[in-house]
Amino acid sequence: MHFNAGTAHTCAGQKRIKMKRDTIAIHGGYEVDPTTKAVAVPIYQTVSYAFDSADHAAALFNLEAEGYRYTRIGNPTTAVLERRVAALEGGLDALCVSSGQAAVNYAVLNVTQLGSNIVSVPQLYGTTHTLFAHILPSQGVTVRFAETDHPQALEKLIDDKTSAIFCESVGNPAGNICDIRALADLAHKHGIPLIVDNTVASPILLRPIEHGADIVLHSLTKFLGGHGTTLGGAIIDSGNFSWKEHASRFPMFNQPDVSYHGMVYTEHFGKGAYLGRCRSFYQRTTGAVLAPLSSFLLLQGIETVALRIERHVQNGRKVAEFLKNDARVKWVNYAGFPESPYHAMAQKYMNGQACSLMTVGIGGGYEAAIKFHDSLKLFTRLVNLGDAKSLACHPASTTHRQMSDEAKRHAGVLPEMIRLSVGIEHIDDIIADLDQALSASTR
Ligand SMILES: *Cc1c(COP(=O)(O)O)cnc(C)c1O
Repeated sequence: MHFNAGTAHTCAGQKRIKMKRDTIAIHGGYEVDPTTKAVAVPIYQTVSYAFDSADHAAALFNLEAEGYRYTRIGNPTTAVLERRVAALEGGLDALCVSSGQAAVNYAVLNVTQLGSNIVSVPQLYGTTHTLFAHILPSQGVTVRFAETDHPQALEKLIDDKTSAIFCESVGNPAGNICDIRALADLAHKHGIPLIVDNTVASPILLRPIEHGADIVLHSLTKFLGGHGTTLGGAIIDSGNFSWKEHASRFPMFNQPDVSYHGMVYTEHFGKGAYLGRCRSFYQRTTGAVLAPLSSFLLLQGIETVALRIERHVQNGRKVAEFLKNDARVKWVNYAGFPESPYHAMAQKYMNGQACSLMTVGIGGGYEAAIKFHDSLKLFTRLVNLGDAKSLACHPASTTHRQMSDEAKRHAGVLPEMIRLSVGIEHIDDIIADLDQALSASTR
């Protein structure tokens, strides 16, 4: 029994999609529209869907019939995106939402209740840190930040009120690569799921579900969309975590939901209970909906993600090598170098392909970093990553500005640090820009 079209097609589509990621990125989740024969995914710019009769409507509301009711709950264009993203990550199903932040929020809220806690690695995207440190606690869910991303550091914080372990597969901006397998084993030992934000790695470089992760989420805004035009988020369920087996910790999936005529999600959705609840409870009532046009734009971006990542990785390596050999640079944090503490993890999880997101310490500290940043001409100064364009940002004064100095240090944000997201332009132009900005930084 499935909710709202998207789901059933995903499961059916999934069996057919045994293709490589490059191919899934182009074809996954869509077959030529049977009515119109449209080859590109149609944009279903509609809020509602007509009912044949009161009985038909009732069957839809009872989630007994396949179909759509209202775009806040599901939309055919977005359903294609959901199937495609689920297939790229090797998951059972996906729910797409209006932003990466909405995905983080829903993914965590869906497993917690008043008094629960989650245990998180310390290296997080700045806004996720704010959500965890300030917003969730005000709603009765606490987040326990470990000292480091080592499994032992997280294990100390787990108790019988812990609902999940949370990490970013590749931390933004710290660039740390988590030992997903070890964290998944730890979570499962304690009867809880591992939730992984896979935004920075993208499913082209790393698929956390293959290493034991239960829930994966994305800011589609970044590498997947790839062009800096559209905000979006996705939550992907592996379908592997047994909410039923751990019913005392997760009553929300196992007891009747009074807000949805007594539905028991594990009974109705089986393996799909997690997203069934996320969609009918959170998405339906709090409404962080992805617009159909955004789904279309993100689908367009995803078609080229494998090609783009290949170029991002190549350019990233050349930039890292250029910077490492330059006396004006104090340090380069890049997992592709053997001396990186995360080199082994990049080998284990990413086939040695480090991301094109890296941080650089500009010689001369905070002032020099600002001069370097302000002198860039090709690189755009902004807070975003994963765009086809090369991007630079100074986390200490932007994304991580709200954090205390102590918290900044904990998240790996230093005053001289510039975060680069190396784009897919010609490498000579990228290096020439960095070279002239470094000269400016020493003036
Ligand atoms: C950007 C980002 C987010 C938030 O995504 P939005 O789409 O901007 O809301 C979450 N996690 C990571 C790792 C990110 O880089």
